[in-house]
Amino acid sequence: MSKKVLVLGEAREGALRNVSFEAIAAAKTVAGDGEIVAVLLGDGVASLAEELIHYGADRVVTVEHPHLKHYTSDGYSQGFMSVYEQEKPEAIVFGHTALGKDLSPKIASKLSTGLISDVTSIEGEGDGALFIRPIYSGKAFEKVKNKDGLLFFTVRPNNITALEKDGSRTGNVTSLSVEITNLRTIIKEVVRKSTEGVDLSEAKVVIAGGRGVKSAEGFKPLQELANLLGGAVGASRGACDADYCDYSLQIGQTGKVVTPDLYIAAGISGAIQHMAGMSNSKIIVAINKDPEANIFKVADYGIVGDLFEVIPMMIEEIKQLHV
Ligand code: FAD
Repeated sequence: MSKKVLVLGEAREGALRNVSFEAIAAAKTVAGDGEIVAVLLGDGVASLAEELIHYGADRVVTVEHPHLKHYTSDGYSQGFMSVYEQEKPEAIVFGHTALGKDLSPKIASKLSTGLISDVTSIEGEGDGALFIRPIYSGKAFEKVKNKDGLLFFTVRPNNITALEKDGSRTGNVTSLSVEITNLRTIIKEVVRKSTEGVDLSEAKVVIAGGRGVKSAEGFKPLQELANLLGGAVGASRGACDADYCDYSLQIGQTGKVVTPDLYIAAGISGAIQHMAGMSNSKIIVAINKDPEANIFKVADYGIVGDLFEVIPMMIEEIKQLHV
């Protein structure tokens, strides 16, 4: 059966996040001959609509309002529900981002429907699609099938491959005017922590440090390696608790979930709560002094050694390659 699928396009600082394109690709697998309608909520976001079409959306509906400039669950749920009422889709897809994790249960409860969250891959297509999602902090995966009724799922960033960008695709972009009222939160200003470079959740390379890094100063070589590889620095909770770095870098069950092409864990023991946030990385390299460290169980390449010797050697080797 063909489905009309609503996909939430997520924009941040004037640019669409990759997960929006991945969500469109996921929508295609369930839509059959149906239509992919992307939804853009914000203030001054209409100029991004075309890019969603280039990545596979058939149409885009924008809702622009000064109260949607910054995300609030009240504002975005009103905006999204208005588009839902207009479009009456058979399926909805969000990114499993901080925004998606907050908004999707709220929308699911408004629609009295179920939600398949944190999908990492889809087997099959159309009505027969099986949604694969990690459970027990990534120790196991379950396959979920939507029985009938509205299908609503969120996709984990960096897991589903976006369609190739096709700049020649065209589609309708319409705007919907919505009253945004009764906000319980008004965001007046967003003050960003000064994080260097690449966004950790979407980075293709992550260099993560743990308590073994021993100090904030100890993170400097990790940052240098990340810069050389165009990646981002992450951390274990052990390193954050010890005040070596900011909690915004924490990866794991109670931190960020990352799925880069390359994850280098330096001085991290490999607690289950940490692995919940990184074990789906494509290639894992572990550097640890302790040959019995748990992290080696999930590593594709293990280096038993002192990170303060190994990381500078890596930096030197990569610099040679760049020359
Ligand atoms: P440690 O376990 O102390 O390991 C340090 C490692 O560094 C050791 O293996 C040591 O051999 C190695 N090392 C030391 N010096 C060097 C050196 N010079 N060179 C190479 N290796 C060296 N943790 C998370 O990371 N993320 C989470 O989201 C998270 N959520 C949690 C939620 C709950 C409810 C609980 C209870 C815990 C959570 N934790 C989380 C904490 C988790 O259980 C571990 O305590 C934490 O991950 C340990 O951090 P670590 O590996 O850096 O430190």
